[in-house]
Amino acid sequence: MEYEIKCSVCGQSSPSLLAFKCPSCGQPLAVQLYFDFEVGKIRRRDYTVWRYANFFPYVKEKEIITLGEGWTPLIDSGNVHFKLENLNPTGSFKDRGSTVLISTLHKLVKNAEGYISEDSSGNAGASIAAYAARAGLKAKIYVPENVSGPKFNQIQFYGAEIVKVSGGRSKVAEEAQKTEKGKFYVGHILHPLFRDGIRSLAYEIAEQLDWHVPEHVYLPVSAGTLLSGVIYGFKHLVESNVIEDMPEIVACQTRQVSPLYHSFKNLSYTPPERVTSIADALVSVNPPLLNLMVEHLREANGDAVMVEEDEIFNAFIELARKGFFVEPSSAVAYAAYKKQLKNKEASKDDKTVIILTGTGLKTMLKPN
Ligand SMILES: [Zn+2]
Repeated sequence: MEYEIKCSVCGQSSPSLLAFKCPSCGQPLAVQLYFDFEVGKIRRRDYTVWRYANFFPYVKEKEIITLGEGWTPLIDSGNVHFKLENLNPTGSFKDRGSTVLISTLHKLVKNAEGYISEDSSGNAGASIAAYAARAGLKAKIYVPENVSGPKFNQIQFYGAEIVKVSGGRSKVAEEAQKTEKGKFYVGHILHPLFRDGIRSLAYEIAEQLDWHVPEHVYLPVSAGTLLSGVIYGFKHLVESNVIEDMPEIVACQTRQVSPLYHSFKNLSYTPPERVTSIADALVSVNPPLLNLMVEHLREANGDAVMVEEDEIFNAFIELARKGFFVEPSSAVAYAAYKKQLKNKEASKDDKTVIILTGTGLKTMLKPN
């Protein structure tokens, strides 16, 4: 057996690639790999996520749906390397999850004369809609009723059907998951294959640095797909003896949306009534994967940092003035790095990677 999809809580194995939760206890599923990463098995002429196709054994070669995602630039600025995930086809790192998820499922869904559903009015919704379009698959994207803005426009331009739902964010998820004829829920937060696609990012960072991994990796955290995927990828490389140690993974959150920070530091967290942060892609005040994230971050000897609104804005501007136009949510990771430098919790001499997750072209901010 090369891999297994298992419940992260009770360990029950899930036979279906379509399942998004444990068939016995309803908790999140995760992909377990039972093979080593081998540098010799990289497809060196492929400059997409699929250069690592040999490490995604559940995807059939002929069924790959790609828009050229992955192999994004890693640009240095001294000892800091910026990973430009904003340059993915739909403008965010989510394309790594979408290409793996949609490549695996599109035939199964089409053979059942079905369609896919997702709940997201942001980058994930746009990414799933794009890959569904590329696969010729119908997608229904469930969104809160008052949603607007560039990301929502992008979802519609890709041709997804929009379902507006009144009530809170959890109501939107509930509607998207509700059983209906032909519907296959592929929500990016819960579906294990979406999260699993993100591990390609860890492989890439390691390969681009000639397998000398950085000492620290800073990344923004909302629902935890990026965090869990990156940790799992580096862990796979360590277990395969390709790299010696895990980098320290630093989970970065805004004061408003910081359930992981608080839980990790054993502090109590009260979410705001309404999230008004400029980091508007980070919205998960009550993430379903929270326990799993804390567990992964502890196991990986990671850390968590929380930043303030003015720190995010300053980091966003500073990145733009260096030529990196990313969304304010991506600037959260750079803001956290700067904060740790100032507090002497990080050193300029350490090799550090900062993941810039999404493009600035979708921002609603206006210059003064
Ligand atoms: Zn279970």
